[in-house]
Amino acid sequence: MPVTRDSPLRALLGGKTATVLAEQLGISTVDDLLAHYPRRYAERGELTDLASLRVGDEVTIVAQVRSVNQRRMRNRRGTLTDVVVGDGHRSLSLVFFNQPWRAKQLAVGVSGLFAGKIGIRVNQVQLTHPECEIFGASDTGVDPDSDPAALVDGYERAMTYASQIIPVYPASSGIQSWTIARCLRLILDQVDAVEDPLPEEMRERRGLIGLLQAWRKIHQPQSLADVELARLRLKWDEALTVQVTLAQRRVAQAVNPAYPRPVREGGLLDAFDARLPFVLTAGQQIVGAEISHELGGHKPMNRLLQGEVGSGKTVVALRAMLQVIDAGAQAAFLAPTEVLAAQHLRTLRSLLGPLGIAGEFDAEEHATRVTLLTGSLSARARRAALAEAAGGGAGIVVGTHALLEEVVQFADLGLVVIDEQHRFGVQQRDVLRAKSAAPPHVLVLTATPIPRTVAMTVYGDLETTTLTEIPAGRAEVSTSVVPTREKPAWLDRAWARIVEDARTGGRAFIVCPRIGSDDPAGEAGGGMVDDGDDSLQPDSDDGAPGEEGSAAMKRAPMAVLDVADMLGKGPLAELRMAILHGRLPAEDKDATMQAFARGDLDAMVTTTVIEVGVDVPEASVMAILDADRFGVSQLHQLRGRIGRGSRPGVCMLITEAAPDSAARARLEAVAATRDGFELARVDLASRREGNILGAAQSGRRSGLRLLSLLDDESIITQSREEATYLVALDPDLIEHQALADQVARLSEDERADYLDKA
Ligand code: ADP
Ligand code: MG
Repeated sequence: MPVTRDSPLRALLGGKTATVLAEQLGISTVDDLLAHYPRRYAERGELTDLASLRVGDEVTIVAQVRSVNQRRMRNRRGTLTDVVVGDGHRSLSLVFFNQPWRAKQLAVGVSGLFAGKIGIRVNQVQLTHPECEIFGASDTGVDPDSDPAALVDGYERAMTYASQIIPVYPASSGIQSWTIARCLRLILDQVDAVEDPLPEEMRERRGLIGLLQAWRKIHQPQSLADVELARLRLKWDEALTVQVTLAQRRVAQAVNPAYPRPVREGGLLDAFDARLPFVLTAGQQIVGAEISHELGGHKPMNRLLQGEVGSGKTVVALRAMLQVIDAGAQAAFLAPTEVLAAQHLRTLRSLLGPLGIAGEFDAEEHATRVTLLTGSLSARARRAALAEAAGGGAGIVVGTHALLEEVVQFADLGLVVIDEQHRFGVQQRDVLRAKSAAPPHVLVLTATPIPRTVAMTVYGDLETTTLTEIPAGRAEVSTSVVPTREKPAWLDRAWARIVEDARTGGRAFIVCPRIGSDDPAGEAGGGMVDDGDDSLQPDSDDGAPGEEGSAAMKRAPMAVLDVADMLGKGPLAELRMAILHGRLPAEDKDATMQAFARGDLDAMVTTTVIEVGVDVPEASVMAILDADRFGVSQLHQLRGRIGRGSRPGVCMLITEAAPDSAARARLEAVAATRDGFELARVDLASRREGNILGAAQSGRRSGLRLLSLLDDESIITQSREEATYLVALDPDLIEHQALADQVARLSEDERADYLDKA
């Protein structure tokens, strides 16, 4: 039986080693082991910097023996061997009980690898009973029965370190880095029949080495240049596998043709354009034409429209909906929360004016109807809405996840617009698709700028377009960090600023991370439904509290109820103020929003419930309390709620974070730029890939081990081109069996989960 990538290690390495690998590192096949890449490389001549070691770390270090001291223990029978190793500056003590032979094995001057858990005793860092691997030695110095490494003979041992570069693996207490290296040595000698999944012409075109060569170079490099060549090639495997999966998905979607909804002259869209009080920006026109063209085709549109808050996405989406209505079909507009659904309803109705009230006495010719369908409608209103959707009377049905319910039927659903992609998954999109005979066109709107690399991987089955231009006449928004520990007086100035602004007709948002003091955990979790709309993004508490080390991390985050009380009795006593958060009944939320929009309120103390879509042109000041609790993108979103009219905005990021903390650096970055894409990069840099790909995904599970969404943009772009081309020619990869296997390996695995979590 030839060894394949799927061969179980049990048959190749011996049961004991295979068990340890499986249980401790989750490695059970040849492929798992080959993809267990070194965490770093030690150079044989270069000793590990001992100053970098921290108590409690499991380490593998390169060091040289400085002195050996052996004595009999007084209280207990036996010997204690104390071997001091050093890096030239610092020393570390290796302690062995009753292993007198260590003195001979670890003679002064020899160097090797030492692995164990760093402990401390009488102010001296030490490793107790470390595993030892002496360079150049052919004798293991340990009982062969207790060490799986003994399966390799002395010659092999010496060969392991023939090179200057020593791979150091993510090990565990049960298995040492060098044992893993030896297992790899055995496996690498047996996989020479494995077929390369990357077609040869592609490798030549992109300057990539073969797979077998890459495995050897990453696990047994002769030089660091070898490692680079190997990493490039192996990153391509990861990128191409994901891109082929996505390209296949795009092809599969295109197999079911959509019903074309071409432009009809002299219809609702033309009437709307004629009434529009402003001129479309160049960006809106270009994107609009692109969407219009796609709606007229047989290929179902699957487009992600991203654009800064206020860039005019809603108008673009509405024009697309009107084209579809002109073609005799309907559109569904899905919002993540009831507050937003209600607001979209009002926005759409006011943009449409007499064109949106078909059946009423002052409606215009061509008019349609816009209907709201959410979970909190009365039974009667709900029946009416359902009837309008099913009967086709409603050209546009605006709603929340309630639209996904089975009872909701459309006469002819031609387009689904989804506001704020990140709250809806692929499954939700699929449910909506299933509501019509032919797959409807789908347009996803997002104000969270998605870096290109993420768009091409996580959102890879959507085509993306970006609205970069902001309509003219938008006011400036200036942002500053208010560090309350260093500058307590600035906080009073912040409140004073809000009062001054209110006196001249401005309105303020005061945003807190939490609802109330009875709400200890904050609003974590929640998901896509209304109750979740206060939730902090999972990245918000990214920088581990210990790292920040500030007292701010210990007290509970600021809460809406407490803050409203404190401000109402104190600095903002003269203002008309209300609270808004996700736990209020839908009618209350809506009433508060409307009062704020009308100007019956000066200030609103709120959670991130206002993060998306809230549009009040007079809103001019925002104070974000405990701003360090929010993620970079989230702060940017929040800030997008002010400066939407002609009134200049002021955003104050209030924080107790220390000046040199990572949290503070994030806030300074937000204050420094309004460029959402720049901030999305900052955000990406402060997160691990796994977090981007889906909440519970570790980097390992995501299938991305080497590929970085931050640094490998060109690999991702190029592999997407290659994948698209390859799949177009050979959708089922019949001519590329090894690649097909690799793609199957990804999707079989839970790793593929993240593709569905978009
Ligand atoms: P987004 O949804 O991208 O945040 P909106 O579509 O809500 O942005 O637009 C924000 C505001 O700008 C709305 O009041 C909208 O009517 C207005 N607007 C949209 N396009 C233009 C334009 N081309 N010129 C002037 N105002 C515009
Ligand atoms: Mg909008």
